[in-house]
Order: sequence, then C-alpha cells, then structure tokens
Amino acid sequence: MRMVDLIQKKKKGQCLTKDEINYIVDGYTKGVIPDYQMSAFLMAIYFEGMDKDEIANLTIAFVKSGDQIDLSQIDGIKVDKHSTGGVGDKISLIVIPLVAYVGIPVAKMSGRGLGHTGGTIDKLEAIEGFKTDLSNEEFIYNVNKYKMAVVGQTSNLTPADKKVYGLRDVTSTVDSIPLIASSIMSKKIAAGADCIVLDVKIGSGAFMKSLEQAKELAQTMVDIGKSLNKKTIAIITNMNQPLGHEIGNANEVREAIEVLKGKGSEDETTVALTIASYMSILGGIFSDFNEAYDEFTEIIKSGKALEKFKELVKIQGGNTDLIDDPDKLPQSKYHYEVKSTYEGYVYSIDAEHIGLSAMLLGAGRQKKEDLIDYSAGITLVKKIGDKVNLNETLYILHTNLKNVEDAKIAAEKAYKISDTQPDKLEYIYEIIM
Ligand code: URA
Repeated sequence: MRMVDLIQKKKKGQCLTKDEINYIVDGYTKGVIPDYQMSAFLMAIYFEGMDKDEIANLTIAFVKSGDQIDLSQIDGIKVDKHSTGGVGDKISLIVIPLVAYVGIPVAKMSGRGLGHTGGTIDKLEAIEGFKTDLSNEEFIYNVNKYKMAVVGQTSNLTPADKKVYGLRDVTSTVDSIPLIASSIMSKKIAAGADCIVLDVKIGSGAFMKSLEQAKELAQTMVDIGKSLNKKTIAIITNMNQPLGHEIGNANEVREAIEVLKGKGSEDETTVALTIASYMSILGGIFSDFNEAYDEFTEIIKSGKALEKFKELVKIQGGNTDLIDDPDKLPQSKYHYEVKSTYEGYVYSIDAEHIGLSAMLLGAGRQKKEDLIDYSAGITLVKKIGDKVNLNETLYILHTNLKNVEDAKIAAEKAYKISDTQPDKLEYIYEIIM
C-alpha cells in the first residue's frame, strides 16, 4: 500500500477498507507516515466525510493503538458518561454519586482540562487531599465496594488519537464529525465500560453550533457504539450559556454540592438528573425515564446523594470537612463585582467568552504544563432571562491576580442586555438512541 494512493482514494470520495485504515493509523503512530501526508488525508476526510464502516474502523484502529482498560473484575454493568465539553460543566461530579448510590458501578477515567477551566480531575483536586492516581487494585476495589472511583486518564490510552488530534489542531481539521466522533468514542471504548451516555452540547460554548450538526455528531457516536456492541445514548443539551452559576474548579465543586443538596440551579439539576436517569436505564436499574428521574430527585431530597459524594471524597483521601463546609474550599484574594450599566433583561451570555475570561483569571490552562488556581473563577449572578436594574451585579470575577484587564474585557463581551425578555431556554433538545 502507498499512502499517496489512499489520500487520492479519499480525495475522490471513495471508501477505505479496514486494512487501509489500519495501515494509515499504524503507520502514522509509528512515525512511518509523515505529518504532511496525514494532514492531506485528514483534510480529504474533512471534505469527503466517511461512511459508518470507515468511522467504526477508524475508532477501532485508535483503540488498538494503546492500552485497553480491563474492567472484567468489576461486577455489574459498567456505565460511563462523556460530555463534548462546555463551560461550567460539573455534571460528572453530580452524576457519579447519584448513579453509584442506586448500584451502578462507575469506573470513571477522566481528563485534565485544557482551556476554560479544568477537567473533572482538576475539579476534584480542588478538594484538599483528593487523590486521583489510584493504583489499579485500589480502583477496582473501590468500584466493587463503593460502586465508584475516579482516576486520571492513563498516558497510553489511544496514543494514535492523541497524535492525530495534535495534527488536527494545527491543520484546521478539528471540526469534522467523523474525526470528532471516532476520537471521543475511541477513548470511551478503550476505557472499558459496557454502556455509554454522551452529553452532546450545542451552542456558543460548544463545538457544535447548530442542532443539525449536534444531531449528526450524536447519531454518528451512537452508531459507533452500536457497531461495537456498547449500548450508547446521546443527549443533546444546551450550552448557549454556561451551566449553573459557577465557573472555576473550587466554585464548581461548591455548586455541585448545592445540586446534591437539592438547592442547585434548574438547568444544572435538569441536565444532571437526565443524564443520571439514562445511565441508570442502561445499567438496568430502571426501565422508565420518569421513574428514574423521580427516584433521583428523592435521593437528593433525602440527603443520600450528598452523603455518597462525601463517601467518594473520603475513599479517595479528600478532606470531607470541606464538603460539610464548602466555604473552606479554596477562595481567592480578590473579587471584582461587575455591575450593569443598562436596565433590562439578560439576553445572552456567550459561554466561550466566559470560559476565556475564567481561564485568564487562573481557572484553566493555556498550555498543558500550566498550573491551575483552584480558587479562580466566575460567579454568574444573572443568567439569561433575568431582570437587571441599573448598577445591579451581573457577575463576580474571583482571582489571585492583580492585573485582570484581559479577563474583564472577555467577560464584558459575553453579556448582552436587552429591553425585551428572551424566550426561556430549553435545557434538553433531543435524545438519540
Ligand atoms: N474531544 C475529543 O476528544 N476529540 C475531538 O475530536 C473533539 C473533542
């Protein structure tokens, strides 16, 4: 086989065989196929797309390039969740204790964040002492005994995807549905769960800007799951403004605790309970969505959801006093309140600008090696649809930095105030299964 012929084949819109895809992924991972040929191939996929079989074969080739986690020592149906990424997305912190409480084993492998705020691992590490580098034995033991454990992603999970993603980033080929779908699903499949619930975000803070695109991505990932015998459900959710009121690592832990106490915002609570409900349906605990949703609402009301989260913190070495008294979580030195210079209604809050602002305050990483300031972040006092009076606080920036001009400018760009109240936002658009 010659790479140039395979580029040509894709450029003409023809389908590649499994062997051809394996040849490309294997050759590129080993450094036999150079970046310039792989770049041309990725651009050909960007314009010509891939069919279902090609996408499934690309996903398998990524999975086989590295370690595959063996969860066979864990009893029960293992259910994983994944979000395509959004600002203020602390849903994992809420659903892990919820679904573990009803008996679904959650063997969660999560990443650190790059960009606006940290990933789930960074958020949990905002809790003093929380250990995410569990040994394999501890991980399996905790999931069997407590039904939950969270660890950082091993470095050798889907190395081919890692290398290809790096190239996509600098060749303008990130926003290709076959490439996004195979990249995400390869990591989920290598992580070993039996079933997967995907939270596909749509809106200003998401990869997918339209419902049409989001549906196509969701369906593509569900099809990959099906073709590999992993039951997969995708939930399309709103990211036209950040989720909840808090952005930043310690802030998001604080807000997750509020949701687990039944005092969370409506958007965050609705999305979290919807995802938990579908996870528990795939895990065989419930068969009816409304029954599952009501049960999770009850579990929160009874205080058991918060207890379960406290148990997670305890078994991973974290200081549970911080869960009893979240004000003891890291707090920044400075708090800049930004007030409205208009009277009206919040019309939009661009999630991408808020995410950028949070990162500039210290809550996220611009480069992989950057250190995160757990206390940095933003509190959105007003959200879309809220009435705002002149001089009323719109949001508060939390930081340890003295010079935050760029962060202030980014946040200012996010808020639009209008005379008319916008329509209420939908939180969940569609369920694809
Ligand atoms: N997240 C991933 O892991 N891969 C993509 O291609 C896009 C988002």
